[in-house]
Amino acid sequence: MSAPLIRARKLTRVYQLGGGDVHALAGVDVDIDHGEYVAVMGASGSGKSTFMNLLGALDRPTSGTLVVDGASLGERTPDQLAAFRNESVGFVFQQFNLLARTTALDNVSLPLIYRGWSSAKRKRRAEECLHMVGLGDRMDHHPSQLSGGQQQRVAIARALAGEPSILLADEPTGALDTQTSEDVMAIFDQLNRDGITIILVTHEDDVGAHAKRRLLFRDGLIVEDQR
Ligand code: ADP
Ligand code: MG
Repeated sequence: MSAPLIRARKLTRVYQLGGGDVHALAGVDVDIDHGEYVAVMGASGSGKSTFMNLLGALDRPTSGTLVVDGASLGERTPDQLAAFRNESVGFVFQQFNLLARTTALDNVSLPLIYRGWSSAKRKRRAEECLHMVGLGDRMDHHPSQLSGGQQQRVAIARALAGEPSILLADEPTGALDTQTSEDVMAIFDQLNRDGITIILVTHEDDVGAHAKRRLLFRDGLIVEDQR
């Protein structure tokens, strides 16, 4: 059996505040395999975003171990972590985080500069990813000329463009209406069928139902792991 894509052991993140410590993650143990489709669920404040930020090396654990994509994040240098963020993970956020005065095509292709790809290769890959999310006919549009659902699809294309091992999405439908959420979830479903590992945060049951596994967080711990 091959090693899991993600292995967390006693993963802990404590925030030190004036009024005392906040145990945002209180010792999480979990393995996630290549190709899984996981929903991270739980009430507000249960540690979902903290968990995602550790998986994506946007934050460091206070203690415990976290191995992602073959190497221990806790033992990587800042340069290695930057490379990991750039190459191994793609992020999708609730608020899209697109560049406003920039076309959909450039929003997707610009981050690829850090991969050292030629501009022709970046453009080709960005076009390919925009086609994958159904926006082949909107590549010259700016974010303000796109609906919320279309903007989120641009953000998904951007997250995919660098061919990450894992797609991490923190409440990707949180700013969308029900029908648009379903459209965006259909894209995640297709990407997972294509073999991409997806971990997404949601507190909505109908969104979580798209995933093949649900991890329920409570007070910084996984209290249910349902397949
Ligand atoms: P969720 O995403 O499930 O809503 P979070 O992971 O954002 O929860 O937060 C978990 C806990 O950690 C909460 O109690 C939250 O207030 C606290 N927390 C999150 N980020 C910070 C921070 N930067 N500083 C202090 N406390 C934080
Ligand atoms: Mg959150």
